[in-house]
Amino acid sequence: MPSFVCIGKDCKFETSAPTEDEMMTKIAEHAKTAHKMDPIPPDMMVKVKAAIKK
Ligand SMILES: [Zn+2]
Repeated sequence: MPSFVCIGKDCKFETSAPTEDEMMTKIAEHAKTAHKMDPIPPDMMVKVKAAIKK
């Protein structure tokens, strides 16, 4: 199952989901509520995708 640890500074958010699509939904929700990124900027999205462990 893919897992993700937030790359935000001092952020300890971790999540996992059965599919990368569900993962991206969870990450988008977290980015919105915790980091006020709505949507996640493209340059950050690249880093987010690189941080997902498959
Ligand atoms: Zn975070």
